[in-house]
Amino acid sequence: MQPTVTVLGSGYVGLTAAAMLAAAGIKTYIVDPNDERLKAIRQGRSFFYEAGLDPLIADAIESGMLLPTQSYKDSVANSSIVFSAVGTPDNPDGSSNLSYVFAAAEEALQHLPKKAVYVQKSTVPVGTGQKITAMFSKDRQDIRYVSNPEFLREGCALQDSLWFDRVVVGGDDPEALQQVINLYKTIHKARPRLEKLSGVTAPKQPKAEQYITTTLPSAELIKVTANAFLSLKISFANSIAKLADKAGADINEVMQAVGADTRINPAFFNAGRGYGGGCFPKDVSGLIAAGLEHGVALPILEASQAVNDSMPGYIIEKLQLELDDSIEGKRIAVLGLAFKADTSDVRRSPGIAIANFLVSEGSQVQAYDPQAHEEAKHDLSPEVTLADTLEQALDGCQAVIVATDWHQFRQLPAKTYAKHLKKGIFVDAMNCFNSSQIQQAGMRYIGVGRS
Ligand code: NAD
Repeated sequence: MQPTVTVLGSGYVGLTAAAMLAAAGIKTYIVDPNDERLKAIRQGRSFFYEAGLDPLIADAIESGMLLPTQSYKDSVANSSIVFSAVGTPDNPDGSSNLSYVFAAAEEALQHLPKKAVYVQKSTVPVGTGQKITAMFSKDRQDIRYVSNPEFLREGCALQDSLWFDRVVVGGDDPEALQQVINLYKTIHKARPRLEKLSGVTAPKQPKAEQYITTTLPSAELIKVTANAFLSLKISFANSIAKLADKAGADINEVMQAVGADTRINPAFFNAGRGYGGGCFPKDVSGLIAAGLEHGVALPILEASQAVNDSMPGYIIEKLQLELDDSIEGKRIAVLGLAFKADTSDVRRSPGIAIANFLVSEGSQVQAYDPQAHEEAKHDLSPEVTLADTLEQALDGCQAVIVATDWHQFRQLPAKTYAKHLKKGIFVDAMNCFNSSQIQQAGMRYIGVGRS
């Protein structure tokens, strides 16, 4: 018999997990205090854009396998496995804000049935699981705690979850670890159904699909270490890009050839406007803070952060040079407000940082994103004009900055950009365009490390 599951938190991670579990035939409660998010789920959709997710939610709501609620009593009390996927934003000092994690654990503790498994999916600093276990065991010694960090990427969340590199579960109780692994195996067995419902297909390269069991602290450290290393690769590429700009090299050629070494691998070597989003910036600062708590300095990550923070300004400086040292009064298009393509998530979005910086310097900014306008409105300066279409954003501008590599931006012909920009300046902040084609269309091309 399949267990009944509760997922706490209906964000990018929690809702994706709950929709897959429910569409795979597991009765799943999804709990969130945010009524707007629950309302959307009841209508069979998500509050954010993620390809293939809405059909899974709609199917699971219709079948009655996905049960949205605000009540821990109605959900947790009836579940043998409870996932916590609440937010872990950063505090002003960069450390992880664990208030949601502890509040969810404390409330769940009031309702968890005997021998329930409590699974931490949120990204938490190493040592958090031991603190929660200690809290649980004051009242209840029967609850089993498992760390199960999430590795999905927004924009391809379903594909990452259905065809995966690894599922990591950490903890002391082998039976509890196996129960969590079995849930994943149920989802993976239901792949053909989920594939058909969502329209999401297998990646071109097969994945290793490993189930890895570890100790609790190792599982917690694996997650943040993976993100910190990826951020390091991006910042490393950006550091070399600055040198390539001065030395006349092309960073794309350099990093492709460097990554061709099988010891290195080319992924996450794209130079550009730097990383953003709800994970990398806070996971890096959280790891630095966790290091300090244990008396371990991680200067390599501080350097990664500093390089990343410098990138939007570096790109604007390059544009400024092309515009006779002044961006004041210039009309500039910014394309891409989500922190990356294929999502509507705007947390720590470099595109928004660039747009806001430009208006603070007196530029007139026309911005466009295929999915993120609603979410961007909260963070964008009111002086930024949101255009209805990509072409409308470009109209009358002297320059465009492409801040996110949405397919729609990449496939617009260079001559169309040139027509709207009256042969102005093309800033490719993602290094994803062919510089010769841009130049042949009569525009001046600025990349990052592609002088
Ligand atoms: P999110 O902010 O989108 O969602 C968190 C949700 O938790 C919100 O809807 C909030 O209302 C809800 N919540 C807060 N307190 C609650 C409580 N006591 N009970 C129930 N729900 C509660 O966050 P997210 O992006 O889904 O991230 C969740 C966790 O997963 C974070 O720790 C994050 O670092 C990690 N993670 C995120 C991603 C990603 O791509 N977004 C990938 C891997 C890991």
